[in-house]
Amino acid sequence: MDNSDDQFDVIIVGAGVMGSSTAYQTAKRGLRTLLVEQFDLLHHRGSSHGESRTIRATYSKHYYCPLVMESYHLWQQAEAQIGYKVYFKAHQFEMGPDDDDNLLAIVDNCRRYSVPHQVLRRHEVTEKFSGRIDIPDNWIGVSNEFGGVIKPTKAVAMFQALAHKNGAVLRDNTKVTDIKKDNVRGGVVVSTADGGRFWGKKCVVTVGAWMKKLVKTVSGLELPIEPKETYVCYWRIKEGHEEKYAITGDFPTFSSHGKFHVFGTPALEYPGLIKVTSHAGIPCDPDKRPWGPGELLDSLKEWVKERFQGLVDFSEPAMKQCCMYTMTPDEDFVIDFLGGEFEKDVVVGGGFSGHGFKMGPVVGRILADMVVDGEANGVEMKYFSIARFKDTQYCPN
Ligand SMILES: Cc1cc2nc3c(=O)[nH]c(=O)nc-3n(C[C@H](O)[C@H](O)[C@H](O)COP(=O)(O)OP(=O)(O)OC[C@H]3O[C@@H](n4cnc5c(N)ncnc54)[C@H](O)[C@@H]3O)c2cc1C
Repeated sequence: MDNSDDQFDVIIVGAGVMGSSTAYQTAKRGLRTLLVEQFDLLHHRGSSHGESRTIRATYSKHYYCPLVMESYHLWQQAEAQIGYKVYFKAHQFEMGPDDDDNLLAIVDNCRRYSVPHQVLRRHEVTEKFSGRIDIPDNWIGVSNEFGGVIKPTKAVAMFQALAHKNGAVLRDNTKVTDIKKDNVRGGVVVSTADGGRFWGKKCVVTVGAWMKKLVKTVSGLELPIEPKETYVCYWRIKEGHEEKYAITGDFPTFSSHGKFHVFGTPALEYPGLIKVTSHAGIPCDPDKRPWGPGELLDSLKEWVKERFQGLVDFSEPAMKQCCMYTMTPDEDFVIDFLGGEFEKDVVVGGGFSGHGFKMGPVVGRILADMVVDGEANGVEMKYFSIARFKDTQYCPN
C-alpha cells in the first residue's frame, strides 16, 4: 500500500443513495474519496433502485421535519449542479382514523414547523379530490404542499456523477470484507474480496441491508438491524381515468395510517399505473433472497378498492418490483461513530427503515460533517445513536 492510488482521506463502503451522496459531499469538500460497491453501480439488489420514492415533510417524529426541509433544498442544489431533474413536485396527502396517534402527531408537527396544511373531514376530502379518494366517516385527511416524487436510480446516478466530477474514485464489483484499525499510521485499512487493500484516514459504512453482517465482522457489534424483502405494487387505472391519478393531474403522493400502513405515488413513471404499496416486508438474508414475498396483498387490494372508488383495478397488481428494507426496532436511522478501537475513524449510516431515500442528501451532508468535523453540525444525533439500543432487549455488547 505504498502506492498513493490506494490511499484516501475517506473510503465509503456501499454505493446506494447514502454512500453516493456522502461521496459527493466529501469529494466536493476536497477530500480524496473512494466509493466502493460490491455489485455493479446502480444494481437492483439493495434499496436505492427503481422509479419513484416519496418525499414528504409530514413526520410524526419531530426531529425528521427539519431534516426533510434541508433535504428538499439539497435535492434542488444537486439538480442544479447536474442539470437535470430527479425531484417532481406534488402535494402530500395523509389519511387515517381521527384518533390515530401518528396522524395526530403529524398535524402537531405541521403546526410546530409552520408547514401550511389543511385537516379535512370525509366530505371535504371528496370535494378536494373530486371523488378520486374516499375515506371512512371516522377518518381525517391532512393535505399540504410538501410532497413529491424522487427518481431513485436517476438520483443515485446523479450523486455518483457529481462525486466523480469532484474527483472521487468509484470502484464497483468490489466487495469489502474487512476494515481494520491501522495501529502504525492511524486511520483504517479496508480489505476487499479480490485481495485489494486500501488505506483511509476515515471510513464511512453505508451498506444498507448488509449493515448488520459487515459491522459484526468488523467490530463484533451486533446491531439490531433487520433486513426485510418487500415489493412495490403498481395498479392499473381504469380506462378514461388515467389523468385523474397522474402527477400531471395534480394527484398527490399519499400515506394511509391505522392498522395497515399504505403509501403511494401518483402515476408518473408508468403512465396509466399508480403505485400503492404497504410498509411491510419479510425478514431475510440479503444474500439469500426469496425474490417475491406474497403476504399482505389481500389487505392492499381491499385498500385500493375502498379508497379509489373503483376507478383503479384492484383485482391484481399490474406490476411488482422487489426491494430491500433495513429496519431498526424503533424505525429510526443509525448514524453514529462505530466507536471502540475505531473511535471516530469509522462512521456508520444505516437502518433507514423504509423512509431514508428522501433524506439521502442530508444524510450525506451529516456523514461528511462527521468525517471532516467529528460531529454533525446542527443535528440532534441522540435519536440516531447506537447507544440508544443499550439497556434494551437489543443490547449491543
Ligand atoms: C420498496 C421500497 C420503497 C421505499 N419507499 C421510500 C419512499 O417512498 N421514501 C423514502 O424516503 N424512502 C423509501 N424507501 C427507503 C429508501 O429507499 C432506503 O432507505 C434507501 O434507499 C437506503 O439506501 P442505502 O444507501 O442505505 O442502502 P442501499 O441502497 O441498499 O445501498 C447499500 C449499498 O451497499 C452495498 N454493499 C453492501 N455490502 C457491501 C460490501 N461489503 N462491500 C461493498 N458494498 C457493499 C450494497 O450492494 C448496496 O449497493 C423505500 C425502500 C423500499 C425498499
